[in-house]
Amino acid sequence: PSKSPRSYTITLLPGDGIGPEVISVAKDVLLLAGSLEGIKYEFRERLMGGAALDATGVPLPDETLSAAKQSDAVLLGAVGGYKWDNNEKHLKPETALLRLREELKVFANLRPASVFPQLVDASTLKREIAEGVDLMVVRELTGGIYFGKPRGFGTNENGEEIGFNTELYSAPEIDRIAHAAFKIAQKRRRKLCSVDKANVLEASMLWRKRVLAIAQEYPDVELSNMYVDNASMQLIRDPKQFDTIVTNNIFGDILSDEASMITGSIGMLPSASLGAPASGPGLFEPIHGSAPDIAGQDKANPFATVLSAAMLLRYGLGEEKAAQRIENAVLDTLNRGFRTGDIYSAGTKLVGCKEVGEELMKSVESNV
Ligand code: ATP
Ligand code: MG
Repeated sequence: PSKSPRSYTITLLPGDGIGPEVISVAKDVLLLAGSLEGIKYEFRERLMGGAALDATGVPLPDETLSAAKQSDAVLLGAVGGYKWDNNEKHLKPETALLRLREELKVFANLRPASVFPQLVDASTLKREIAEGVDLMVVRELTGGIYFGKPRGFGTNENGEEIGFNTELYSAPEIDRIAHAAFKIAQKRRRKLCSVDKANVLEASMLWRKRVLAIAQEYPDVELSNMYVDNASMQLIRDPKQFDTIVTNNIFGDILSDEASMITGSIGMLPSASLGAPASGPGLFEPIHGSAPDIAGQDKANPFATVLSAAMLLRYGLGEEKAAQRIENAVLDTLNRGFRTGDIYSAGTKLVGCKEVGEELMKSVESNV
């Protein structure tokens, strides 16, 4: 996007629990980092999840959905909480999230796992293995075994009860996620590892064939292929060997959770879900939930949402410089010792969500 002056409409979906607290910080940081880069925003705040259920009777009102679809990017806090846990299945706050992803047609889910130098000891891995890890899992989100047909329950020839699912990918589905992953790798360290089970599964054989074909268009990216069993081992044996990882829906589900534990702190992890280029807005959100146990107490760690805002700038709007301003501000705030409870360690300064926000603003301002 090179509109001049660059101006974007952002839909904010604070949601429930700590969602509003972390979104408020991310909004301020987006505004400031953007204004320093000549970016203008129009923010639209809409109801989603339990908050929407209480106010309108549904977790994803049409008005929220159409606002989201008509914007340049969507920034989401979190949805759900004890209060709505006994709701009917189709009225659960969490169903709003699945529906939103589906409606926005976001097929590429990006989950970075970076070990911040200031937080190495939060990792589940030994310091020498965790230090310097900076990888990105690109998970295919709308195909594969979670959606493939036939699926269901039945009976086999012996009259025994069975359950079955189908791992199914078309060549165009693989091609589009492969293109997305190669482009992401180009913005990173130009290394892409495609993870599959091509020694056993036909869907994986096609996956590998298509990824190898698409690779011809990205000669500047170094491609490797790895079986998923080996990849899950390599991720904790030597995670630094990875830059960008691309994989199918189910392997990505598992590997991205595994990768998040390398960093050890759920409050630091952002995500992005993207559709086809120029097809509509991407969806950006922290990977953590609404944390009802600490909601309303100014204890939430806002870094994951702030880093999601940086991804929004980089992958959603193509505003790399503003994205870097935010990421540098996060590093600076950590360097100056400010921590929420979830990442606190002796010798650092324990502060609340709001104060982290204020310190982040100072860091953005001082243009580090
Ligand atoms: P979901 O089911 O929505 O994915 P969950 O209920 O499994 O979420 P979270 O809501 O992410 O889990 O909370 C898990 C734990 O992590 C809770 O103890 C919560 O307080 C803590 N937590 C989550 N996010 C944050 C955050 N941003 N800052 C501090 N603590 C957090
Ligand atoms: Mg929850």
